Formats: sequence, C-alpha cells, structure tokens
Amino acid sequence: MGPNCTRNCSFCAVEQYPLGPPDPEEPARVAEATREMNLKYVVITSVTRDDLPDGGAGYFAETVRQVKNKIPDALVEILIPDFLGDERALNIVMESSPDVLNHNIETVSRLYPSVRPEADYRRSLAVLRQAKKINTSVFTKSGLMLGLGELPGEVEETLKDLVEAGCNMLTLGQYLQPSKKHIEVDRFVSPKEFDDWRKTALEIGFSEVASGPFVRSSYHAKELYKKVKY
Ligand code: SF4
Repeated sequence: MGPNCTRNCSFCAVEQYPLGPPDPEEPARVAEATREMNLKYVVITSVTRDDLPDGGAGYFAETVRQVKNKIPDALVEILIPDFLGDERALNIVMESSPDVLNHNIETVSRLYPSVRPEADYRRSLAVLRQAKKINTSVFTKSGLMLGLGELPGEVEETLKDLVEAGCNMLTLGQYLQPSKKHIEVDRFVSPKEFDDWRKTALEIGFSEVASGPFVRSSYHAKELYKKVKY
C-alpha cells in the first residue's frame, strides 16, 4: 500500500505522506514473490492507510487469498493496523482466514501520546478482542518495545490487558532509535530482564512469548506459531 503512512509514530522510520493510490497488482506480486521464494510461513504487513475507505483491509484480504492460492500449505500471519476501530474492516481481513492475526500494542497506555499519538490503547486492545470473537481458531499476537520509559508495573498491566483481550502470543524487544529526530531510547533492557519478562508473560497467560533485545514482531514467527499450535 505504498512506502508512506498516514500516521507519525515517534519510534518509526516510515515517512508520513505523501500518499499514492495503492497498487491493485500488489497482492498478486506479493503472492508470486512468496511462490518464487518457496515460503511456507509468510508475514504480511503494511503502512497505516487511514485515508482509504476500509483502511486497506481489502488489500490485506486479497493478499492473504492470493498467497494461499499460490501456496496452499503456506501459513500466513498478518500484522495489521487498527483500522480506526472499524469492525467491518476487521471482518474483511478475518474472512480471508489468516492463520495468525498480529496487532502490536507497541507500548504502555501512558506513553501513547508521545509514542503513538494517533493511536488509542483501548482501541488496539479492542482489535485483538474483536478478532478473537470473529474467529476463535485464529491465533492472535501482539508486541511491545521496551526501553521507551515504561515502568515495570505498567508493562505488567499491559500484558494482563492483552491476555484479557484473548491474545495468545507476545513479542518483547528493545526499542532502538531509527534517527536523531525519533524518540530517544530511555534505557537498554538487559537480556536477563527480557528472560524475566518472558516468564512473567507466560505466568500471566500467554501461550508463547519471544522476548529479547533483538526480538521484533516477526521474530521466529513460524516457530512461535508451531509451539502454540502443537
Ligand atoms: S502506523 Fe505503523 S508504519 Fe505508520 S508510523 Fe506508526 S508504526 Fe510506522
């Protein structure tokens, strides 16, 4: 859906604007690329396109369908925006039967105004909750960056909120500043603390957790999925 975004998260290197029309051939080209690379687990994501009537849900759905059409045994994980909380948009992507629906909460509620100014903590939780309600067999997943100034109690609260929203899998990674104009790193979290957070998250109720300084949303996504599934 293009290289640029309608939002301006302070941690993200993606540029805000200008926006062009999405390329209608993109789903077919993504599917062809996955076939050429013989991928068996595909993570599909996009910029946020609040300017589109369905937030780009139709493009996600079409891409999932075309990938599954080209490689019937491929597992597909989609990392979606919040679609401004539009349940119709969420229904559109869920109807394409992704294997995993990922939506990152990114940080704790208090830091939203400085980290995700156009997003809404409760709305992101609602996306995960609603996805599970639409199809309980689809695994849901979310992630947070640590090192943005969050307090331990706030992280714990966020993990509880995610589990309460039915979220199955979690990724926790270190925030790194993409450039000097982005929000500064508050602190570097030690590998031991990441291990401790993994244990805490499992105790809170996640089925599987990837936690470490270099973990990102798609980190070992296939392995995480398999641990939850089997
Ligand atoms: S919505 Fe996503 S792509 Fe857009 S600025 Fe925020 S993190 Fe980056």
